[in-house]
Amino acid sequence: MGTGLVSVAYVVASVLFILSLGGLSHQESARRGNLYGVAGIVIAVVATLASVGDGGVVAIIIAVLLGAGIGIPIANKVEMTQMPQLVALLHSFVGLAAVLVGFSGYIEPLIATFGAEHTIKLVEVYVGVFIGAVTFTGSLVACGKLDGRIDSKALTLPGRHMMNLVALIVTVFLGAWFLSTDSLASGLIALILMTLIAAVLGVHLIMAIGGADMPVVVSMLNSYSGWAAASIGFMLGNDLLIVTGALVGSSGAILSYIMCKAMNRSFISVILGGFGQTTSSSGAVASDQKVREFSIDDVCDELRHADSVIIVPGYGMAVAQAQNGVSDLTKLLRERGVNVRFGIHPVAGRLPGHMNVLLAEAHVPYDIVLEMDEINDDFPNTDVVLVIGANDTVNPAAAEDPSSPIAGMPVLEVWKAHQVVVLKRGMATGYSGVENPLFFKDNTHMLFGDAKESIDKVVSGLRG
Ligand code: NDP
Repeated sequence: MGTGLVSVAYVVASVLFILSLGGLSHQESARRGNLYGVAGIVIAVVATLASVGDGGVVAIIIAVLLGAGIGIPIANKVEMTQMPQLVALLHSFVGLAAVLVGFSGYIEPLIATFGAEHTIKLVEVYVGVFIGAVTFTGSLVACGKLDGRIDSKALTLPGRHMMNLVALIVTVFLGAWFLSTDSLASGLIALILMTLIAAVLGVHLIMAIGGADMPVVVSMLNSYSGWAAASIGFMLGNDLLIVTGALVGSSGAILSYIMCKAMNRSFISVILGGFGQTTSSSGAVASDQKVREFSIDDVCDELRHADSVIIVPGYGMAVAQAQNGVSDLTKLLRERGVNVRFGIHPVAGRLPGHMNVLLAEAHVPYDIVLEMDEINDDFPNTDVVLVIGANDTVNPAAAEDPSSPIAGMPVLEVWKAHQVVVLKRGMATGYSGVENPLFFKDNTHMLFGDAKESIDKVVSGLRG
């Protein structure tokens, strides 16, 4: 395929990726968005294969088969609740790829460059390797934190901001050396030293971010991996990678900003770290307080007499895989004329859009799945709220207790409804480790047990 045709194919693929992102921003158009994305990828892969020589095609096919051989079994094995760790691990691969491409591009450049063009090439390599190394180690730490292998508490070393600043200054000096030297060996030493500093910086930046801010970290690393891919594009002179990387980088940055707003966190403070520290208890709940329990029959009674019900799902619904039961319950209640809606918090679950994906998979109609801002004013006029495995995202301490570690984070104000039923297994805290006074409110009743089993029993009870 001629370079002109390849460029046209890359432009078409880029446009399809942009349309895909547009489609994915609404549930109704998400399926179409996915189709655009798939079409874009197919065009990009075909154009890439057609643009390299025979030897290159064989190498690419071997690499794809190797990658698929490792990736498919892992993807098949991974639970939905382990997706954030997997995503973080995949981001680390993009970072590592940027580092490797940068080193190989420096040691054995594909095209000889001179003068200003050569300097630009070197800057691309240096910046690409830097972003790649930060993304690589930062994503590995995020994966460890999300997986519970690394303590999710923020590591707040004394003088940490100064350490980061010194690391950046040394990186700039090494960069100046890298650009000015004509010797490959000295250039390599500068590049290796900078890579080590960037790798430590990646570890330090993510270690300094506390458990409660992990949603932002996941989307921020998504953004970093996009910029790392864009830097690979610059190094390889591949326009499609530049565009795709920039799309991922900027959409990840926008998502991080949206999540910061949803959690009332300052974007800059989160990035600099040491903000949302995890506490084992907020002291918001007096130890002698007792919860009130409901039986399955009690819940069925409440639902039989309700005209309006809001279901608030959280991470526990994903753990229990209760979404199909929840969908059955929704159908049953709607058939009886009950106004059933869902309230989704932007950071519910462990992935952006986690709850929306589960509910879509269980065929819950999109038009009754509402965002926090769309439904928060409706709780006072609601008969029953079913909180299914949600905890932090419905914690009144965020709104009512200024000393709470999650103070100021907007939450779903479920406690304003007439009756709240919380489905969970015990009294464990949520991801942020903060106690939840909701469970002790007069209008709250607990239905203890696995969410899937409880919902299935409620559905049978209502049918029986
Ligand atoms: P939480 O993590 O606050 O709480 C989940 C609750 O589910 C737990 O209290 C647990 O209690 C209960 N649970 C667990 N398993 C089951 C089960 N099988 N059946 C019933 N209940 C169960 O969930 P939220 O969704 O409210 O909040 C999400 C949290 O995760 C936030 O703090 C957010 O910041 C964080 N986070 C979000 C990310 C995102 O991108 N969305 C990424 C990373 C973190 P018990 O054990 O007693 O049953």
